[in-house]
Amino acid sequence: MDISIVIPLFNEEESLPELYAWIERVMKANGFSFEVIFINDGSTDHSWKVIEKLKAQSDCVKGIKFRRNYGKSAALFCGFEEAQGDVVITMDADLQDSPDEIPELYRMITKEGYDLVSGWKQKRYDPLSKTLPTKLFNATARKVSGIKNLHDFNCGLKAYRKEVVKNIEVYGEMHRYIPYLAKNAGFKKIGEKAVHHQARKYGTTKFGLNRFVNGYLDLISLWFLSKFGIKPMHFFGLLGSLMFLVGMISVIIVGVSKLYAMYNGLPYRLVTDSPYFYLSLTAMIIGTQLFLAGFLGELISRNAPERNNYQIEKKV
Ligand code: UDP
Ligand code: MG
Repeated sequence: MDISIVIPLFNEEESLPELYAWIERVMKANGFSFEVIFINDGSTDHSWKVIEKLKAQSDCVKGIKFRRNYGKSAALFCGFEEAQGDVVITMDADLQDSPDEIPELYRMITKEGYDLVSGWKQKRYDPLSKTLPTKLFNATARKVSGIKNLHDFNCGLKAYRKEVVKNIEVYGEMHRYIPYLAKNAGFKKIGEKAVHHQARKYGTTKFGLNRFVNGYLDLISLWFLSKFGIKPMHFFGLLGSLMFLVGMISVIIVGVSKLYAMYNGLPYRLVTDSPYFYLSLTAMIIGTQLFLAGFLGELISRNAPERNNYQIEKKV
């Protein structure tokens, strides 16, 4: 199979028939063998009914129904597990991404050797309240990930070589950082293609400011993971040990200089009168705590349950 198109959706009943017809048109015109995998992420409208109807009309449709809303990342990950095509395309369900881009994305993966090609909504049709935080977000993601050639990390339209999606785990709000996940998994050729973007035709956006906050927190843990793996002790342990060492050395210095003053008949106070003594003791205590925090983190991450624990209610 040439192409798997993975589409996560949450309450998009109006868009689906139009979207599928458009995809089918493009696929047939280019002679691709394909599948479209709809992941219904706990929709409360009639999206699932629409998917069942599309399935009845075409064998190229697969539908997966989550028991409840688990988020776009979980939905994408589930689609990645299911995908069988040589090239995997992800796109949003709301008709903002254009299926007309797929043939060129496919060509870039198969002919130009890209591992991942991310869409770039060069001209974006969303309100300023969305585009402004996105600008900030993209600047941060570029810096942290070291992938300097991407303008738009979070574009829903992306193409992947199959091995990429089978070797990354998308969870939490990580769908915003898939190029970074791919890079950490060792895939090097990551590119970009300017794509057309349209205003939302039906329904409303599912992402608000709270998702951005969660997204930033996930970026921090992703950065941490890529630097230290599941070894929090290598970060906190080092910091804690250093602090403990500095504290211990200054306790000794304060103590020795007080003793020196005492034996030489110089004016002195008790060691325990010195504020430096207490500062140094505090440093030793905080250092020990940091070390233990890292140790605990390491024990926990080694026994962590699956990060993706979504439940599938039905498949068609
Ligand atoms: N989506 C999802 N689960 C969610 C939220 C969104 O599967 O919890 C889907 C949504 O239906 C759409 C895509 O993710 O297909 C992108 O969402 P949206 O268009 O609301 O985001 P925006 O384009 O406003 O950034
Ligand atoms: Mg959208």
